[in-house]
Amino acid sequence: MAHRLTRTSVSAGLGCTRSIRRALATTSAAAAEAASTANPASASSDSKNKSRRRHLVFNNRTGPSLQHFLAQPLGTQPTGASSAEPEMVPYMPTVSDWGEGRKYYVEVYGCQMNVSDTEILMSVLNKAGYQRTMALDDADVIFLMTCAIREKAEDRIWSRLAFLKTLKTKARPDRPPMVGVLGCMAERLKERLLESDRLVDVVCGPDAYRSLPRLLSLRAMSADGVANVMLSADETYADITPVRLDANRVSVHLSVMRGCNNMCSFCIVPFTRGTERSRDIDSIVDEVRRLSRQGVREVTLLGQNVNSYRDTSASAAFGDSAGGGGSDLSRGFSTIYRRKDGGRRFAELLHRVAQVDAEMRVRFTSPHPKDFPDELLQVIRDSPNVCRTIHLPLQSGSTACLQRMRRGYSRDAFLELARHIRSVIPDVALTTDVIAGFCGETEAEHRDTVDVMRTVGFDNAFMFAYSMRERTHAHRRLQDDVPADVKGRRLAEIIDAFHETARARNQRLVGSHGLVLYEGLSKKRARPFGSDDYGHKVFLDVPPGMLLAPGDYVRVRIDGASSASLTAAAIEKTTLARHYREHPQPGCLPAGSPDYRPDNARAQSHAGHASSQPAAAAAAAAERTPCTG
Ligand code: SF4
Repeated sequence: MAHRLTRTSVSAGLGCTRSIRRALATTSAAAAEAASTANPASASSDSKNKSRRRHLVFNNRTGPSLQHFLAQPLGTQPTGASSAEPEMVPYMPTVSDWGEGRKYYVEVYGCQMNVSDTEILMSVLNKAGYQRTMALDDADVIFLMTCAIREKAEDRIWSRLAFLKTLKTKARPDRPPMVGVLGCMAERLKERLLESDRLVDVVCGPDAYRSLPRLLSLRAMSADGVANVMLSADETYADITPVRLDANRVSVHLSVMRGCNNMCSFCIVPFTRGTERSRDIDSIVDEVRRLSRQGVREVTLLGQNVNSYRDTSASAAFGDSAGGGGSDLSRGFSTIYRRKDGGRRFAELLHRVAQVDAEMRVRFTSPHPKDFPDELLQVIRDSPNVCRTIHLPLQSGSTACLQRMRRGYSRDAFLELARHIRSVIPDVALTTDVIAGFCGETEAEHRDTVDVMRTVGFDNAFMFAYSMRERTHAHRRLQDDVPADVKGRRLAEIIDAFHETARARNQRLVGSHGLVLYEGLSKKRARPFGSDDYGHKVFLDVPPGMLLAPGDYVRVRIDGASSASLTAAAIEKTTLARHYREHPQPGCLPAGSPDYRPDNARAQSHAGHASSQPAAAAAAAAERTPCTG
């Protein structure tokens, strides 16, 4: 359906990846001419407003029109399948010249997925001849990698853009930098970003980073703002080796899938990041091997709905649902979309990654509670280097509220899943996300949420007051009718319940021993710290003579605990394999033993869900909140 974006934007029918490449190969002048031809009314109007900026905007609903193809210079062909290289334009300078040493500065907001995306776009930009600078004043291009998950996150970006406008017009009028908005806000707010407020030169959505060098070139060649916010059904950036934001970190996040099919009624993610697609297992395992050789000691597999991972590049593998396994939903859970058969699932991916390096810890985020078949739980239980932390986003403890949220489970199903996970992995740490004051939430529903928080006893929790986002199901169908002060009070009660149980759980750890991956000195207090398998931040007392380097494993004795962190005495340096050989984890059947058969876990499926003791773990101070799951 034709859809007019801005007065001077390109209006067209449904687009596709190939057609957008063609469209981007046109010069801005040609495209603007095409737009005028396609829409005479717009052209007439434009002639009266020649001083206004024009914009090239492409998105998943408004691909280029036939006019773009007619206006396209002879010899310009679509580039075909995805390439690791930035997209080529025959009559533009070669890709390596596009950047010509220009410097870019990037600020990252939001979740870990944005960090991962930034590392991908840095690879694209470096390949195109740009150089990263750490100094804002030195930059020719300033990028903001944005988050749209909550109103507050967007507010931060708008105030930062206002600052950058001042920088452009007042502080550096002789050498104004280009400003680019990337990520989740791009698709949602392209019109306002480019036209209404005129703060931004380039807008680039999460699936369009390969086109960023070209967008910058188009912008440099004209006064027009440019955008590519096209969402893709298959872009995973699997062939791009990310450039790490912090090359010295021993802990790395690795994107394995993108997008989400769940359409929870409060969530903007499916609209800003598109539908689910997964990288193939081999490309992921290859990257993990490379990271291992570089000395990385912890890898976190990343995806909006990571345990919904499904690699369809090969079908004959354990976990193929056509063979009866691997795609089962957790008991009592459902989806609103039709689930597909086939493909290699997350349990196999996790198993393969865990086998790469016995000294590399493996985590994953952010999962959905519907995708925890027993194969997956058994891989976590039986792989010593897979951390025993499971994120289980609750969102609400009320069945009625969960229905309005379209989460696909009831309060009882969630509680049963938490019990079951603890029966399979007795020492597991469970973490969660909770929303206070969702549309129509009653006091009784809120009390149900507080009750589940106390019943489960989470080890960490990300808790927020509900903030309605445009375009979501809730925005169209529900009322954001819980007053702000009530949301605030309910949120405080949920937080209190969390801290109470987390503190009690952490206190039980005092006197016990554990394994910590040393990360360095804390920024605030310059105190040695690391993290344990359960996601706790652990501050260390290191005896004189013990020299620690980031990436070292340390056996510790827990001496103190709060709801947010632990303190511990470092006892000795060790290795992960040695530590768990000498101190086996509860229930662990080491991978490689004759009895280890992840594909046979179904035989034990949901047998004997004995309620377990609470996990010996506590709340962690995470650097970035999960935005998904
Ligand atoms: S909350 Fe998570 S599962 Fe639900 S739509 Fe958003 S990203 Fe998908």
